[in-house]
Amino acid sequence: MNSPAMKLVVVGASGRMGQTLIRVICETEGAVLHAAIDRPDSPALGKDAGVLAGVGELGVAITDDPLKAFVDADGVLDFTVPAASVEYAELAAQARIVHVIGTTGMSEEDEAKVKAASRHARIVKSGNMSLGVNLLGVLVKEAAAALSARGWDIEVLEMHHRHKVDAPSGTALLLGEAAAEGRGVSLKDKAVKVRDGHTGAREEGTIGFATLRGGSVVGEHSVLLAGEGETVSLTHKATDRSIFARGAVAAALWARDQKPGLYSMLDVLGLSK
Ligand code: NAP
Repeated sequence: MNSPAMKLVVVGASGRMGQTLIRVICETEGAVLHAAIDRPDSPALGKDAGVLAGVGELGVAITDDPLKAFVDADGVLDFTVPAASVEYAELAAQARIVHVIGTTGMSEEDEAKVKAASRHARIVKSGNMSLGVNLLGVLVKEAAAALSARGWDIEVLEMHHRHKVDAPSGTALLLGEAAAEGRGVSLKDKAVKVRDGHTGAREEGTIGFATLRGGSVVGEHSVLLAGEGETVSLTHKATDRSIFARGAVAAALWARDQKPGLYSMLDVLGLSK
């Protein structure tokens, strides 16, 4: 017998990703929109989530009461802000449900709280929920491992729309982590996130980041591996936010059958080794 449709709550329902998630849930067999949450004071409160997302009335009004929404939901899809995602992780743990976190820009302290919540919640967290970027991460790790002893430099370049508030992007950091893993080093020790003024020559073994912001760009990332006289460029371009939303819904459906814990999209996609 088929299991009943997974009841999903979208938090940050009026955001760019929130609205995309609502549309994708409506298209996905086995998933149903159970509730839609936004921050207190949001002008979207009281509106129908489907109307706001452009898919017609769904009979689900946007509220600011996550506690009530989580009680008999199966999962939460969360692309909001770090402080909100940490709170939602704690509530998801109390409700023993799935929490898919796409929010980027978390501090180490936030990450530790999410980890603690994953003792009781099934959390999937990733700076990028698309198949393409996660595959790119696997390729970057391999390339970095193959070239690590040969003195090649690694730089991560990204561009996003003008509204993005954190830098480097979660995806750029995910790709930087993959490069660091391939090299067998810690990104924390090797990352150079800003260059300005007389910086001196590039320090060997570092992983550099460069950030561009403008227009409506959904997300473009390149990892450049630069050697003497040649450069290899590995690139991903997102042209539609629905790739992240489809990944998030797939992650929720996958996590439904897992034990409590903290998972990545590599686990969901079967790309983790
Ligand atoms: P956005 O349009 O600003 O949406 C964020 C939404 O969260 C807004 O509706 C915001 O409401 C709402 N919000 C803020 N505080 C909240 C709270 N306490 N409770 C509930 N909702 C709250 O941003 P976006 O472009 O959708 O991106 C959201 C996040 O997802 C960012 O961190 C972004 O980097 C990340 N992202 C991740 C992926 C991935 O694949 N992992 C892909 C795309 C984006 P107000 O506007 O009213 O403040």
